[in-house]
Amino acid sequence: MTVMAPILAPTGIDCAPVLRERGQREVFCGLTGIIWLHRKIQDAFFLVVGSRTCAHLLQSAAGVMVFAEPRFGTAIIEERDLAGMVDCNEELDRVVDRLLARRPDIKLLFLVGSCPSEVIKLDLSRAGQRLSLKHAGRTKILNYSGSGIETTFTEGEDACLAALVPDLAASAPGAAPELMIVGALPDVVEDQFLRIFAQLGTTTVRSLPARRAGDMPPVGSNTRFLLAQPFLGETARALEDRGAVRLDAMFPFGAEGTTNWLHAAAVAFGIDEMHFRSVIAPGRERAKRAIEHCRTKLAGKSIFFMPDSQLEVPLARFLAQELGMVPLEVGTPYLHRRHLAQDLALLPRETVISEGQDVDKQLDRVRAAKPDLTVCGLGLANPLESEGLTTKWAIELVFSPIHGFDQAGDLAELFARPLRRRDVLKV
Ligand code: SF4
Repeated sequence: MTVMAPILAPTGIDCAPVLRERGQREVFCGLTGIIWLHRKIQDAFFLVVGSRTCAHLLQSAAGVMVFAEPRFGTAIIEERDLAGMVDCNEELDRVVDRLLARRPDIKLLFLVGSCPSEVIKLDLSRAGQRLSLKHAGRTKILNYSGSGIETTFTEGEDACLAALVPDLAASAPGAAPELMIVGALPDVVEDQFLRIFAQLGTTTVRSLPARRAGDMPPVGSNTRFLLAQPFLGETARALEDRGAVRLDAMFPFGAEGTTNWLHAAAVAFGIDEMHFRSVIAPGRERAKRAIEHCRTKLAGKSIFFMPDSQLEVPLARFLAQELGMVPLEVGTPYLHRRHLAQDLALLPRETVISEGQDVDKQLDRVRAAKPDLTVCGLGLANPLESEGLTTKWAIELVFSPIHGFDQAGDLAELFARPLRRRDVLKV
């Protein structure tokens, strides 16, 4: 087994040492985010400027879903384009013109960069500006990169939302404080949060992204925002650059995380503590009851997170604090210490936090630790299962509704199920 000596990270709010690794990694690229983003922004279209590989990735990640009018597609860069034999810009303009002529319902078009578009240095930002002028008044055209060279998995959403921020309207001068929920949540979960905020009396609550291009929230120094996802570093920075203030909180997983997240907003908006407690009490109790039945299965069990979605730290906090699991190593592609400070502070002292990946070294550590459960990408799960380890596909955690009080039981169940399956197979 090769174990890399921990390198002390620069001091953050907590000072836990972080094992930093840079090597081969096994993570999807940022194009994957399109799979949930295209469902969220209902009049947007994601045009990947990429290769057949990119098209296949999207097609297979989207599974068997068939849309009468799909909201994503790929403009294929052919080999002759890679050789620089034709003008990709003209071709791209033609593709966009055709698409928007056929689909006037598209109000927001994202040109999404990929590895091939980066390799041939196709400037999608200039293409976006050029096409925006041409289609002004009908369709807004933005761009971001989902390339595997620049982004991992959930970073695609960060890049997409960060691209939206400069385009948001400015809040009116002297406008009253408003709350913004930042991060794509399933509509049903977002509605649950909006209902709680309405009961609390938080007057204006908006979401980024909004469900329709024309409803994106304004931003300014009156904006107080709560991150709903831990992978939105660039988006948070862009919002702060426009004067918005991030509310420091745990991420809304389980009874405790959700309470803490809602409480941060309640404090910022001066909501009476007794009123806050009475509003959240039913949801909090429901969440506690729902996760209780998984506690016997999970308490005392060890878990190892390979870096994948950046959800690892808050999920490990949930499993350790609320279900008594023992996180051995919590790997994450990038560690946003400031955003994760409260979750990090609640992890057991013995837990190794690792950032980045050197997959072979990390697999050695998994084999040496023999965790009861390993959370990892699809490509690693089968080999580890064949070695007798029990695994959980990390991608399922991104595609399932897991935030908030009413999803806490399902979230716990996602971790209990593989252990139950293992027990059944053993029998
Ligand atoms: Fe592969 Fe890069 Fe396309 Fe992602 S963007 S599918 S990593 S070629």
